[in-house]
Amino acid sequence: MFDKVLIANRGEIAMRIVRACHEMGIRTVAIHSTADANAMHVRMADESVCVGPAPARDSYLNIPAIVTACEITGAQAVHPGYGFLSENARFAEIVEEHNLIFIGPKPDHIRLMGDKIQAKAAVKRLGIPVVPGSDGGITDDDEAKKVAASIGYPVLVKAAAGGGGRGMKVARGESELSLALSTARSEAKAAFGDDAVYLEKYLELPRHIEIQVLADAQGSVIHLGERDCSLQRRHQKVWEEAGSPALNAEARDKIGAVVTNALSQLGYLGVGTVEFLYENGEFYFIEMNTRLQVEHPVTEMITGLDLVREQLRVAHGSAIGFGQSDVTFAGHAIECRINAENPATFRPSPGLIKDFHVPGGLGVRVDSAAYSGYRIPPHYDSLIGKLIVHGRSRTECLMRLRRSLSEFVIDGIETTIPLFQSLVNEPDIINGDYSIHWLENYLKRRAA
Ligand code: ADP
Repeated sequence: MFDKVLIANRGEIAMRIVRACHEMGIRTVAIHSTADANAMHVRMADESVCVGPAPARDSYLNIPAIVTACEITGAQAVHPGYGFLSENARFAEIVEEHNLIFIGPKPDHIRLMGDKIQAKAAVKRLGIPVVPGSDGGITDDDEAKKVAASIGYPVLVKAAAGGGGRGMKVARGESELSLALSTARSEAKAAFGDDAVYLEKYLELPRHIEIQVLADAQGSVIHLGERDCSLQRRHQKVWEEAGSPALNAEARDKIGAVVTNALSQLGYLGVGTVEFLYENGEFYFIEMNTRLQVEHPVTEMITGLDLVREQLRVAHGSAIGFGQSDVTFAGHAIECRINAENPATFRPSPGLIKDFHVPGGLGVRVDSAAYSGYRIPPHYDSLIGKLIVHGRSRTECLMRLRRSLSEFVIDGIETTIPLFQSLVNEPDIINGDYSIHWLENYLKRRAA
């Protein structure tokens, strides 16, 4: 196994990775910006290196500084976490060119899945069902009109380089199509420096269901079941569950087999998530994420597997060492993403956390880098913690979630905890009866 791993990230995910390394006897190197000198991930790691000033482009995205930090500290491998450089194929290549190990998939697979047009075409060839839409990029309005007419309105214009829910525009009829195309193109250009867009059928009432996979260098690929991430605001996940209230074991096995078969043809390595929309019993691929996801803990809670440990093992060349039939699912888990934001307007609320007290007890897990006296810097995203709760059944899980939310104390800043306190008492949530549009509609009703 590696002796020393550098973690090219910050916050709760950096701590998550430090924890897995320390359990395995691996020494850890944290990197940080000047704004994060006192951050908990820095204190928890065995060593730390300052890689630049506060803005992420000068520190957490500063590739030369990160590679230098590996060389200075003698780290043998780099774990990128999620966000930042985790889906940057060039970074993965540079790491390998320096005789270091990138803890993630092969650069070519990161690149392939990073272009959603190419990714969709590739997985379709591998037998994964996709959302009906244009076969490639859309370059002019007339072509778009033809495709839209053939798949039927409403349609969604999406950015090839898309991420974080940006660069997506709905057109409900032909009169809205030109504007949707030009807005999506300019949003994509501004956010990703790439204005390539494509068209998809806009599904009206789907759920977002994603399949977690794990693959080793020996060619074994297994899946660890699904997560339901339908509760979203602005196409961003807010609450995630494993398993999905909408899926039975038979449907899970079926889609799991399709996904593992496709990824073994591809020769995929490491962890990954294949994301689908699920409507009327059918799955439609939307994208694949070639990294650890924010919501990975719900899978860990029901499978008992440590996904970061598995990432480290397969990156080092070990075989998974167990098969699909050894993976079992026990009980139900829910994760709430707690953000430093006003719970009604979602305006960011950085600042000083005066008091921080986390819930505990059986089946309760909090992944957070916050503490009493911590000042949240304004430079990064607003996620300050994840509350993950496990129960033997979904009902028990919800009871425990209600209880845990009432114990959570975060004083000094605004957080989204009150939103979750309302959600756990909503009949549709209790019944597991919601699509990807449920939360937006609920927020609109509340604001009215
Ligand atoms: P991103 O990479 O920006 O996260 P995704 O393709 O993963 O984009 O989509 C994010 C979310 O947008 C999905 O979970 C879903 O809620 C919505 N979405 C994406 N494609 C469609 C579609 N064809 N129809 C309806 N909603 C969609």
